[in-house]
Amino acid sequence: MAIRIIRKDDDEILRKVSKKVEVIDDRILTLLDDMKDTLYDAQGVGLAAPQIGVLRRVVVVDIGEGIIELINPVIVYENGEQVDEEGCLSLPGRSGIVKRPEKVIVRAMDREGKTFEMSGTELLARAFCHEVDHLNGVLYTDKMIRDTTDSSEE
Ligand SMILES: [Zn+2]
Repeated sequence: MAIRIIRKDDDEILRKVSKKVEVIDDRILTLLDDMKDTLYDAQGVGLAAPQIGVLRRVVVVDIGEGIIELINPVIVYENGEQVDEEGCLSLPGRSGIVKRPEKVIVRAMDREGKTFEMSGTELLARAFCHEVDHLNGVLYTDKMIRDTTDSSEE
């Protein structure tokens, strides 16, 4: 277990498309563990593997209800919309308003290789969408309606 360095700002790796995980080996399990440590250390709600420099389709999310590990996640259903402020561990000190679905269902594999589906609403739906975007080299700033970086009040 280790805390990895979070890639930030204009790091090119954040713009690359991550590869599907074909085999869940020790490297992937270590990756999941390190991502969890890194997420908690940074006090974020989600982290995607490319954010620590690994171009694999692996995501961890925790909105305060325990860690959710997603291997090869795909959003298979979305409904409604929510418009709210969003930030990213790779873009520290910045924020913006982004429109996301109100509810999504994500399909992924767990660390045992079992496929499962999980639904999320509100913040969890937002986190799933944000992290899956990272796997495709997409940042929230690509989608934001308004940059709120300088309007944050004390
Ligand atoms: Zn992010």
